[in-house]
Amino acid sequence: MRWNAIPITCRKFFRVTLDPIDCLPIAMFHPQTTHIAIIGAGPAGAATALALSTHAPELRISLIEASDYRQMRFGETLHPAARLLLQRLQLWDAFLAENHAPSHGIISIWGQDAPTHNDFFTSLLGLGFHLDRCRFDAWMMTVAEQRGVRIMRQNRLTGAMRTDTGWRLQLIDADNRRIALDADFVVDAGGRRAPFARLVGARRVLYDRLIGAFLLFEDKQDTAIDSRTLIEASADGWWYGARLPGGRIAAACMTDVDITRRLSLAHRGAWLTAAMQAQHLSRWLGGAQPTGTPILCPAQAGRLDVCTGWHWLAVGDAAVSFDPLSGQGLVQALRGGISAAYAIADSLMQQPAASVRYAAGIDAEVCAFLSARDHYYALEQRWPDQHFWRRRQQRVELSPQQLLQAAPEADSHPASLLYLSQAQRRRVLDLCLRQRTAHEIVHNLCVETKLPARHWLLVLQYLIKIGALILMPHPRSLSDFPSANLIK
Ligand SMILES: Cc1cc2nc3c(=O)[nH]c(=O)nc-3n(C[C@H](O)[C@H](O)[C@H](O)COP(=O)(O)OP(=O)(O)OC[C@H]3O[C@@H](n4cnc5c(N)ncnc54)[C@H](O)[C@@H]3O)c2cc1C
Repeated sequence: MRWNAIPITCRKFFRVTLDPIDCLPIAMFHPQTTHIAIIGAGPAGAATALALSTHAPELRISLIEASDYRQMRFGETLHPAARLLLQRLQLWDAFLAENHAPSHGIISIWGQDAPTHNDFFTSLLGLGFHLDRCRFDAWMMTVAEQRGVRIMRQNRLTGAMRTDTGWRLQLIDADNRRIALDADFVVDAGGRRAPFARLVGARRVLYDRLIGAFLLFEDKQDTAIDSRTLIEASADGWWYGARLPGGRIAAACMTDVDITRRLSLAHRGAWLTAAMQAQHLSRWLGGAQPTGTPILCPAQAGRLDVCTGWHWLAVGDAAVSFDPLSGQGLVQALRGGISAAYAIADSLMQQPAASVRYAAGIDAEVCAFLSARDHYYALEQRWPDQHFWRRRQQRVELSPQQLLQAAPEADSHPASLLYLSQAQRRRVLDLCLRQRTAHEIVHNLCVETKLPARHWLLVLQYLIKIGALILMPHPRSLSDFPSANLIK
């Protein structure tokens, strides 16, 4: 039987049914129970569980992880700022004992041919680390277990239904058995796929189409001696290389999905040919030998349109994922887990402002990220005509006095969720039901969302390009209205 096929009269226990999901009736009537169900035991989920187990030890917490941590995980450079967070979670000494490889800094070739060096040696926070991500993630989960968190290994969330007091989750274990779990509160820490939030209707807004094509190298003779992470811009994107523990190296081309296809980066030969563009990386790799074939890893910057809701919130990449150029993903996941723990404990004590504060924190992070990202990509001006860079350095060409109006039936336009959520798109189109100037629209949106004016100007340009907004006649000239005033 499918959950959405249960007759209305039998649904008295449930107020809302969501995605159609297979479910055996037995699972519905013998549920296990928990106070907090955390979906996903990556860094964000484990940090949430660990922080909650200290902050609210009376709560029963279940940490649910789909994988067995055997499949390669990327995102290995741990910024020195993580130290404070690991100390806060009382993990620092145990983390050091795990012997991950130290990272002494970052070499970047960005905006110029000569490398610049950011040595962690000069940082008050100390060294960073190159992690074996599978080992790190599995270790955090094990520590959570030692601190009393119930671990549900190799259990995948496949369904969710709202109950009177929280959520009934459907999980499938490694033997394909269905389990029902009743939780008062659900945390989506399931990474970019945001498995719970999407089941309950949240949608992901993308800010780009970045993807990483990774190739692993072996460096048995330790020829690539530099332990610093290398980042090198090239015509089609940017490359990076990082040493992993155990004499391995991860090297990747970060570019857009269509460029990955054009360059055939999924094939080893083509990957190695393309890597010749990155001369510093090629030298840095020294005599290291490539192994296997490239692995493609989605890396889009994006966020959920709604990251908190009735008895749930999202944390880590599920809530917001940054461009890996920022090197902040793991720090953000750990910090997010700690903030989420406070927000959850307060929400359960009937303090509705807690989740509003938590969501505002995420909005502020997104805002800061978008501004920083524009800044960094604008620093690289060597390939202004290449697609990858043009997309990230789009110029604002819209006159502030340009009159705009929503196209007839603009709402039904099959626009993807690039740049903005459904609700935001609806809001822009509502604002444009009557003719307004670009300035007026952008001003309203900036006040409402706190996102930078440049972001909204690019959104308007995008909506014009796809035909959802129409340019109305008689704009005054751009020179009358310096657009610099509009761009933060
Ligand atoms: C190419 C690339 C390179 C990166 N490099 C860096 C870097 O060098 N430094 C850095 O700090 N950050 C980096 N990042 C970002 C960093 O990897 C992420 O920000 C970080 O992993 C987020 O942690 P998380 O716990 O939120 O999500 P994840 O690490 O994705 O963990 C999510 C967990 O949820 C589990 N899960 C998923 N679906 C389900 C389900 N249905 N049921 C149960 N469990 C489920 C998954 O198995 C996983 O264990 C990089 C990201 C990419 C894409």
